[in-house]
Amino acid sequence: MSAQLGNLFILAAPSGAGKSSLIKALLEKHDTADAYPMQVSVSHTTRLPRPGEVDGVHYHFVSRQQFEELIELGVFFEWAEVFGNYYGTSRVTIEQTLHQGTDVFLDIDWQGARQVKKLLPDACGIFILPPSTAVLKERLNKRGQDSDEVIAARMQEAVSEMSHYNEFDYVLVNDDFATALGDLESVVRAHRQRTSKQKMRHTDLLQDLLGDQSTDEC
Ligand code: 5GP
Repeated sequence: MSAQLGNLFILAAPSGAGKSSLIKALLEKHDTADAYPMQVSVSHTTRLPRPGEVDGVHYHFVSRQQFEELIELGVFFEWAEVFGNYYGTSRVTIEQTLHQGTDVFLDIDWQGARQVKKLLPDACGIFILPPSTAVLKERLNKRGQDSDEVIAARMQEAVSEMSHYNEFDYVLVNDDFATALGDLESVVRAHRQRTSKQKMRHTDLLQDLLGDQSTDEC
């Protein structure tokens, strides 16, 4: 992908780490007058909608056959099979949104994150960890009435996802929610200020300050 004005953020975590809540809170805090517009990418999936999930808002819900056709058509920027269902991110939407200068947040698994980093090494990978196994177990036993087998299976999936934390640029621990949200904001802010992006964002300023030397490589 060619250089884009918008920034791409990849967020991954095991289920129970609070990833979706953090992304939601980050976007809610975001001021519409902010110089950095941002949005969460809406993925395609073959899993069935959960109660309250709306097609086109939480996911684009499609059949397995439809998803496989979309793979063949090269529609996806990345895709992966996660716990028996397909999930994928639309290439055109990401490219157009980044091109417009809007930051995009991808809520995806480690397999998708690996593909995105390969295509766009400039993307910022953030992994969110729970504060302990005990807390994770508690969060995974959502209704407090699941069998030991169900909780053990969820724990195994979580450990498998967490074993990839090392492939990410940043690791945040979600113990106290407000602290984790502050940490996430700090990472996002810092990533936006890297030189390669500032050069694109502030061409007029650099021209004003440096004249012909503004494009000189150092
Ligand atoms: P859930 O079914 O609970 O919404 O999501 C299950 C897992 O799939 C989560 O780890 C979520 O981040 C991941 N996921 C959601 N959308 C995508 C996507 O477009 N690509 C990939 N690779 N993973 C996704």
